[in-house]
Amino acid sequence: MELAPWAPNPNAPTTETMSPLLLATWSINHPALTAAWPALSTGGTAVDAVESAIRFAESDPRNATVGVGGSPDRDGTVSLDAAIMLSPSRTGAVGSVRRALHPITVARCVMERTPHYLLAGEAADQFAIEQGLETGELLTESSRRRWQEWRASNSITRPIANIEEQNHDTIGVLAIDSNGTLAAGCSTSGLAWKLPGRVGDSPIIGQGLYADPSVGACVCTGHGELAAGICASFLAVETLRHGNSPTDAVRQVLSRIKENYQLTDQDQIGLIVLSHIGHFSTGSLRPGYTTAVRTADRDEAIEPELVLL
Ligand code: ASP
Repeated sequence: MELAPWAPNPNAPTTETMSPLLLATWSINHPALTAAWPALSTGGTAVDAVESAIRFAESDPRNATVGVGGSPDRDGTVSLDAAIMLSPSRTGAVGSVRRALHPITVARCVMERTPHYLLAGEAADQFAIEQGLETGELLTESSRRRWQEWRASNSITRPIANIEEQNHDTIGVLAIDSNGTLAAGCSTSGLAWKLPGRVGDSPIIGQGLYADPSVGACVCTGHGELAAGICASFLAVETLRHGNSPTDAVRQVLSRIKENYQLTDQDQIGLIVLSHIGHFSTGSLRPGYTTAVRTADRDEAIEPELVLL
């Protein structure tokens, strides 16, 4: 693919100095940015902002794709994935936790308190308990009802739901603080009705998220299997590293997916690419994806700059 020369993104903040910035996948996550903004805008750190925005989404039982109330797997069990990243040497993640109420905080503890980057399954829940983090029942009455309805009306061989605004996916958050520090994070219950044991792109560094402080960061949402095979977030940041714009990076990722997968009408990926100086772009394979934006001047949900199909 021929990449266009670098050009400032019209969506970017206009100030020359580094102003705090928060971005999240899906307009439904706008309240999570509202919750995290007061601390970030008054000198808080990017990593705290990412964690607190995601904790907000994880706490909301009405959000059917994140934290408590998240959609269960084929067998009716909720399992959660999350990751946080500041730089290639500062990452933490958890996969397939079934009891931790705030997987993003468990992921942060993995980053800050262990020599590892990813813990998975029962042992990750056990780690959360050892760290004094909250655990509990993730399945709500409402998610149990939705699962029962799905089971009654679908073949067991059709394990996933469509990605659309009513099934609005992972929260992915990107932040820059007033010191210019970048952070990225994701949290999800994964695809609704997934096969038990399935882990998506969200907790995998380079797939659902990536951050390099001297270059930029990316988060993805949608069908994780599409982001996985092309290392979507890593590809976006590497595209920036070679001097291209965030818009070019979005185009590169979406084109690479199109080149490598036989896409169906249901397939969707949305992503946000942010440069280390605060320019950003958003895009998706198909219409329907939205991004929440919070800066000193902006507080809105925006349509993708690029829609490939
Ligand atoms: N990317 C997530 C996954 O595949 C799903 C999502 O964005 O909702 O697990």
